[in-house]
Amino acid sequence: EVRVRFAPSPTGFLHLGGLRTALYNYIFAKKYGGVFVLRIEDTDQSRLVPGAAESIEDMLEWAGIPPDESPRRGGPLGPYLQSQRLDLYSQTAQQLVSSGHAYYCFCSSQRLELLKKEALRSGQTPRYDNRCRHLRLDQVQERLAQGVSHVIRFRLEEDAEPFQDLVFGWNWHEVAQVEGDPVVMKADGFPTYHLANIVDDRYMRISHVLRGSEWLISTSKHLLMYRALGWQPPTFGHLPLLMNKDGSKLSKRQGDLFIQRFKKDGVLPEALLDITTNCGSGFNANRIGRRIDELISEFNPTKITTHSALLDLEKLAEFNRIHLQQRIDKKEQCRQLIEDLQAKIQQTYTELMQDSDVLQEDYIKRILHLRKGHICSLNELISPVYAYLWVCPSFSSQQVAALTTEGPHIALLVLRLIEKQGEELSVEQLNKNMKTVAKQAKSTKYREVMKLLRLALSGLQQGPSVAEMMVSLGRAETSRRLQKLLQ
Ligand code: GLU
Repeated sequence: EVRVRFAPSPTGFLHLGGLRTALYNYIFAKKYGGVFVLRIEDTDQSRLVPGAAESIEDMLEWAGIPPDESPRRGGPLGPYLQSQRLDLYSQTAQQLVSSGHAYYCFCSSQRLELLKKEALRSGQTPRYDNRCRHLRLDQVQERLAQGVSHVIRFRLEEDAEPFQDLVFGWNWHEVAQVEGDPVVMKADGFPTYHLANIVDDRYMRISHVLRGSEWLISTSKHLLMYRALGWQPPTFGHLPLLMNKDGSKLSKRQGDLFIQRFKKDGVLPEALLDITTNCGSGFNANRIGRRIDELISEFNPTKITTHSALLDLEKLAEFNRIHLQQRIDKKEQCRQLIEDLQAKIQQTYTELMQDSDVLQEDYIKRILHLRKGHICSLNELISPVYAYLWVCPSFSSQQVAALTTEGPHIALLVLRLIEKQGEELSVEQLNKNMKTVAKQAKSTKYREVMKLLRLALSGLQQGPSVAEMMVSLGRAETSRRLQKLLQ
């Protein structure tokens, strides 16, 4: 059975790089009828960010790639939070100690600090000198009995066999001669990443580990631990990194890469999924507009390349435009968009909103259909250019007087012509008819007529064409606004 996992540390909120790793896992699971697990790796207690674990799961759900098993959903092989699995790690660490693959280390932090300084002074990479490897059993027992603070270290005595990575092919990293023995259990009773990660992959029956390529060099170490425990390792596939367009590393500190931020900015999840897979690899061909079911069916793991993926965020607007259009054309999804837009309008124009007709489903729906293909996000519709759609403009009689003395007359003419048009107004029809109206006005030029209408419809001096505004506002709302000129 295919079982894959996304295993973030809740040391921060979900960002685009993480979403991409999760996405490939999700696609892989769904493509092969498998299970997608979310496991929260919260063993570094000092770096936990409150709320991050919950938010990561929220964001996966929002993105439309929900885990099958997770802290929130539960599952047969939980718990899915590492901090709730401490017994399992200490049992495994004990097993490694008993079989001679791991040992207690009592070195003080001062000693380790000193080792580090010395190494750096002589231009070497700091590493533990494995001193406690050589303690006798009675020395160990004595110190344990005295309650001396200790960690457990894994013996890196030999090197791992080469392994075949799904993406990077045959791989081998020298560890025994290069690294000091790594800590697997810390003094606070928590495991380190390396131990917890392999224990959970084993007990959660993970078949394929698909993770960022920054973990490639740790894999040899993990394989040694699997061997020491007599466990069959999973298959590994390391995913190339996501980079900025200019080839620089994405940083979690780039605030604009957080998924919550994209969500707030009106980016649709499918656009986000689409852009992160388009710049990368894993597909026979690239095209914009793929939804998750298409990503799954078109995914081809042999097409994942080893070079990093360059993310072009400038294209995100275009991706969003296309996916927004797709959503507007789907009845159910459009209904959701209407609700979202209603909420946004209410938030943005709390005090300004004078009548609530503009919040009605039909009104908003028509506008969505009119603007689809033009707007890149719902947020655009609440920007100042479109404010006239939601806010009835206020204008003074002086403003009208500055343009014409025959405001009511012109308004009546336009009202009449709108009455004569069908339910749906058309830009061409309106343009033609308004020229006629201008001719019927005695002392007002076409330009002034247009200014007057623009004022009454939007309160603006500039903006979309008058006919376009009328079409967007629709018959009822246009009439309502023009009536004000009669007063
Ligand atoms: N907790 C690790 C991380 O934050 C997981 C790495 C892995 O998938 O093995 O990236």
